[in-house]
Amino acid sequence: MPKQFKQLMAEHTEPNIELETLRQQIRSVVSTLPDVVWSVEVPSRHVCFVSPAAATTFGRTPNEIYAMGFVWGDLIHPDDKARVLAEWDEAAQGGIFESDYRALTLSGEIRWIHSRGHTATDASGKVVRMDGISRDITERRDQERKIAHLSRLHAVLSKINSTIVRVRDRHDLLHDACRIAVEQGGFGMVWIGMVDYDRGLVRAVAHHGFEMEAPDEYVVSLDAHGASPSNLIALTVAEKKPFFVNDIAVNPPKNPFRELALRHEYRSGITLPLVVKDVCVGVMLMYAKEPDFFNENELGLMNELAGDISFALEHIAKDEQLTYLTHYDPLTGLPNRALFQERITLLLDAARKSNMRVAVLVGDIRRFRLINETFGRQVGDRLLHDVAQRIKAVWPEVESLARVSADCFAGALVDVCDPENLPYLIDKSVTAIHKELFLIDGKEVRITPALGVAIFPDDGEDVDTLFRNAEAAVKKAKATAERFFFYRPEINARVAQTLLLEQKLRKAIEQEQFLLHYQPKIHAINGSIAGFEALLRWQSPDSGLVPPGEFIPILENTGLILEVGPWAIRKALTDGKNWRLPDGTALRIAVNVSPIQLQQRDFVKLVQRAVEELGGKGCGLDLEITESLIMDDIEENMKKLAAIGEMGVKIAIDDFGTGYSSLGYLAKLPVHALKIDRSFVDTMTTSSHSMTIVSTIISLAHAIGLKVIAEGVETREQAKFLQLLKCDELQGYLYSVPIPSDAVEEFLSKPALSRMV
Ligand code: C2E
Ligand code: CA
Ligand code: CA
Repeated sequence: MPKQFKQLMAEHTEPNIELETLRQQIRSVVSTLPDVVWSVEVPSRHVCFVSPAAATTFGRTPNEIYAMGFVWGDLIHPDDKARVLAEWDEAAQGGIFESDYRALTLSGEIRWIHSRGHTATDASGKVVRMDGISRDITERRDQERKIAHLSRLHAVLSKINSTIVRVRDRHDLLHDACRIAVEQGGFGMVWIGMVDYDRGLVRAVAHHGFEMEAPDEYVVSLDAHGASPSNLIALTVAEKKPFFVNDIAVNPPKNPFRELALRHEYRSGITLPLVVKDVCVGVMLMYAKEPDFFNENELGLMNELAGDISFALEHIAKDEQLTYLTHYDPLTGLPNRALFQERITLLLDAARKSNMRVAVLVGDIRRFRLINETFGRQVGDRLLHDVAQRIKAVWPEVESLARVSADCFAGALVDVCDPENLPYLIDKSVTAIHKELFLIDGKEVRITPALGVAIFPDDGEDVDTLFRNAEAAVKKAKATAERFFFYRPEINARVAQTLLLEQKLRKAIEQEQFLLHYQPKIHAINGSIAGFEALLRWQSPDSGLVPPGEFIPILENTGLILEVGPWAIRKALTDGKNWRLPDGTALRIAVNVSPIQLQQRDFVKLVQRAVEELGGKGCGLDLEITESLIMDDIEENMKKLAAIGEMGVKIAIDDFGTGYSSLGYLAKLPVHALKIDRSFVDTMTTSSHSMTIVSTIISLAHAIGLKVIAEGVETREQAKFLQLLKCDELQGYLYSVPIPSDAVEEFLSKPALSRMV
């Protein structure tokens, strides 16, 4: 025992029995106190007295403390020591000392201590001691921490609840929930993932408090059915229960976020299931820096939090369902009248700005009521559903389709240049609906639609007018048993003409009324014949020889070109067999190919068969294909053209200069020549712009090893310039108009010199 205290006691001991009794009483009282009473020397901080409670509070008995010569402060946790000693030193000047700090027991346990003391002075007024008590407040601190914790969670809950009331969007809700949990709840990082049961994944949709390094890092595999879930997230999804880990570092769960959590020094984590209609749709994952962040008390609140978010998710889903119902027809999945009108209004605005025509079509099913009455409503509903599917399959812009009333569908088409061509598209959808029977519950139903068309801006400036006019046209179609009717009679007349022409063309194919004329191409350098271009003609019984411009668009729209085109190739090869150049070599004959032909999968085969049967590799066949078309589907076309090139067939790009060819591709394309479009040749002697284009095309083509053919050469002046610019071949009325096949032989026999300019 320190000397000072002994002396202190001795001074008063022997003569006074009363005092001795008092001392014993004090000692007895002190020893029963749960708090530690102490007396410490100032300034040495030497402990001169400490009561027995030290054994439980600090984990050391008074005797141990005296024996080891501790000075006050030696038992304080290193993290708190500097702070507490500074407070001590200040109080030791003369005043009150009061401090909360952690003490470290012999066994390494941490205790929270509250100490309070005051200074004592000697006779001269100098501070010589600090006397006081220390109390173990570990439990109270824990309690306080828990209360703070709970109130933070309550704050999160109430914030999230107010968000739920406000937010109508799933994305916003989940982002806000993460943010609130971090900002109000003291969580370090928070993450929400939604379950994708088809892919077996939980994918991040919202997060806060950390940077997503790579979205893949947050894709979590769910285990296949039956297998026991291998990680906390999968477990949460499977059991629809929260799971928490209170020290990620020492008790590693199979958690895909463990690495991330440890890297950011998070120690506690919890997963909460978001459950809608008894299905776990998502998982919320929260991390906190402290270990032991979670306990059973909080689990209730956490569950409540997850429940509230789930509730909001369900609410939003219902809301979306409602929006869906107000905009879509649930039977067919098509937009309803309201949405259709909204969309068409937008379309019309755009069309107005860019001067485009828009066609609004309304289609009705004839005698639908009868079907309903005969077979019952259910069959009627199934039928409407199936009709919608067939229309969707052929309609170019599905977004512009709608079911506007019971048996009435509507659609819009943008950028309609020629209303006369519409019938071909209409025909496709009408045929799709009409041609094949609908099989519904074992009943065969055939239906016939009636369509009406109104065109913006000609037939109306706004949706309502257009719609009304299209409906009026439907009525007329129904009355006249026509498949469709345009609102304006003159279009109907033109359409009727087109349709008549179509019928005539079908007959023309049957009766072989097509023939080919041939127009020579001349070598610019010496006037000798380079080859011929085969040009289609129709010998119509009513109107005589019809040029292709008048019927090729119809052949293309109806698909009839797929019969006439291949015929032209075979015919040109057959004709060409009989013709020889003066030196005995075969003539090159170029045949025009329509985009639709090239698009066919069997196009290469078709050409191959014609070549093999009608002349083989030396047959001299060339193909002319327009520029725009080749560039449309460049990869596929390159393959086809290369295969055709293998057969000794050469390819020229027709109407060159009118499209937007990329020169990079041009160099790679297996073509051998460019035909400069007639419009440039026509104006080259009067417009310097055209002249520049012609000269540029020629030099570029030569640079990448292509020949150049000029078409539409009508004057000597044009021919002269083209010769100077080193154009390879010339074609045009200057040399010859296209001539019938029986005139070709005579043409061949003329001397080349007569063609020199
Ligand atoms: P194209 O391939 O550009 O054919 C050249 C057109 O220019 C031909 O008109 C020809 O008669 C005309 N032409 C030739 N030299 C001159 C001239 O000096 N001045 C003027 N003003 N015109 C000239 P055509 O025969 O009426 O053919 C028109 C278009 O029809 C062709 O344009 C081609 O795209 C298409 N076509 C012709 N035959 C066929 C064919 O068998 N199949 C396919 N798919 N299309 C063909
Ligand atoms: Ca051509
Ligand atoms: Ca051309």
